[in-house]
Amino acid sequence: MNFKKKIVVSFGTRPEIIKLAPLINILKRKKYNFKLVYSGQHYSKNMSDVFLKKFKINNLNYDLKLGKKNTSKKFINIFFIKFQKILKKEKPDFLIVQGDTNTCLASALAAYKLNKLNELNTKIVHVEAGLRSYDANMPEEINRIIVDHVSDYLFAPTLIQKKILVNEGINKKIKVVGNTIVDSLKKRKFKKLTKKFFLLTVHRYENVSNKKRLNKILKIMGTVADLFKMNVIFPCHPNTQNKIKKYKIKINSKIKISNPIDYDKFLILLKNSQITFSDSGGLQEEACILKKHLITFRNNTERPETLKINSNFLSMLDEEKIIKRINKIFNNKIFWNNSPYGNNVSNKILKFIRYN
Ligand code: UDP
Repeated sequence: MNFKKKIVVSFGTRPEIIKLAPLINILKRKKYNFKLVYSGQHYSKNMSDVFLKKFKINNLNYDLKLGKKNTSKKFINIFFIKFQKILKKEKPDFLIVQGDTNTCLASALAAYKLNKLNELNTKIVHVEAGLRSYDANMPEEINRIIVDHVSDYLFAPTLIQKKILVNEGINKKIKVVGNTIVDSLKKRKFKKLTKKFFLLTVHRYENVSNKKRLNKILKIMGTVADLFKMNVIFPCHPNTQNKIKKYKIKINSKIKISNPIDYDKFLILLKNSQITFSDSGGLQEEACILKKHLITFRNNTERPETLKINSNFLSMLDEEKIIKRINKIFNNKIFWNNSPYGNNVSNKILKFIRYN
């Protein structure tokens, strides 16, 4: 490896682990000069340790464990300060961040601030740039806008996101590469399950911090389970579990709630589910790539490419619309060919960084 420049990768949640793991593994395999910083925004065993282990990320240089003791606002402030100290010590040439989390935001801002003060000369690299839901109530929307505007290298999944960045006046290095999730899904074989079931995940702030919305989602799922005579498997985010308890929401006995499950098992469920219901971002991509139908419990999406090819459907939390869509799916009226998310994406990103 004749590329001697130093790279810091900063991450801290389940989706960041899943989507950065293939890139980190290339850094390792090809002996890049790199350091890994894990903020610990996701800290519970089944949201972080299981995933780090699964993807063989056993070489964290900084494991900050900041999520457990801090509310999300406090977390951003504390990580922002701690991460500046790390940057000053490591003085990387490149900082790689992914997506739209608070970890991503605080990391990019810390580097931007030190660059502006001439204490650092680090290129900020945003993987999964240009996503916009145009819904300012989503905390993630604010994060991704800010990160895109302070970044030097922006890797957009599709042309749609590139156009958004260009229209916002960003004139840095923008490259359409696809989404690194394809690398995590590559070469997988899936066990076949015989029983028919629906799959559900819910965790977005707008859905779970609002008792009415969370209650409505679970009520719709109960109705759907009864109507189509199928169980709903519901691996439940810790925060959602707390809210269900707090709001004392009653759940239909066909909805089988559990702790979050490891990635391999989750993908087997996704691949075998009749239909998946979710408000997750990553699942919109995974379902599309694995040719599985998704019904999204949101009114908008930052992944319009999935609507364009019809792999995804925005439910608007409208029971009638959802039942109509399920019937259409069961009557084989909806299908799509290729996913818009490319291939060999992590490699393309590292190559672009090396040669540009
Ligand atoms: N996932 C998982 N186990 C679960 C639920 C989800 O491995 O019990 C995976 C899922 O396949 C996807 C990622 O977690 O890759 C999505 O994470 P999340 O929904 O928390 O974040 P988002 O994608 O919305 O940012």
